[in-house]
Amino acid sequence: MSEEIIIANITKVLAQVSTAAQKHGRPADAVRVMAVSKTQPVEAVRAAARAGMRDFGENYLQEAVAKIEACADLSLRWHFIGPIQSNKTRPLATHFDWVHSVEREKILRRLSDHRDPDREPLNVCLQVNISGEASKSGARPEDIPALAAHASALPGLRLRGLMAIPAPSNDFDEQRAVADEVARLYRQLQREHATVDTLSLGMSADLEAAIAAGSTMVRIGTAIFGPRLARSPG
Ligand SMILES: *Cc1c(COP(=O)(O)O)cnc(C)c1O
Repeated sequence: MSEEIIIANITKVLAQVSTAAQKHGRPADAVRVMAVSKTQPVEAVRAAARAGMRDFGENYLQEAVAKIEACADLSLRWHFIGPIQSNKTRPLATHFDWVHSVEREKILRRLSDHRDPDREPLNVCLQVNISGEASKSGARPEDIPALAAHASALPGLRLRGLMAIPAPSNDFDEQRAVADEVARLYRQLQREHATVDTLSLGMSADLEAAIAAGSTMVRIGTAIFGPRLARSPG
């Protein structure tokens, strides 16, 4: 994708986000856009950064670390949104500012242990597997309160909220129903934990439904960078 197209796409996405916020009675600045740059080259990240993007999401650790290091001059915020292997918690805690895909107590403990105590705590969202979840990842809704209590007690972490990846659907009402379910759980978590301020929900195809339900962070890949590129193994 050329820089011009990336910039035009970002303008379009930001307009969609503010239109959706306005339409559903949310403040214009209530929703942050994370640019999901998985499989995209460093030049695409730099182009998006020049267009004002500060938050970038990555799914694959090795690929991400190379990009994070190549963009160290830009002071970007990096979010890990992919599946987590327990033997990879050290590089996650070292290189990322946020991890959105935590679903187990063991991972929480390891991320906290590996976070340098001289740095800000690692921001964490718990991934919840609501009905209609596309993948099998995410904790069961009934396990979220205990996981949240655990996360809140760990010195290396700051519990920020919930993340979900609903099953793809082209139907707005269907998207909205699932998003509402996640949002209910999020509001419950907010009542129990003062640090919770982030509902990480909504992708290119369902951002309006997510914003209508109360998302505070949408994760946008395709609508900014175009189709994902082939990825070399590893
Ligand atoms: C790839 C990915 C996205 C971005 O999806 P698009 O449909 O390309 O916007 C968002 N969230 C997660 C967890 C992803 O893996």
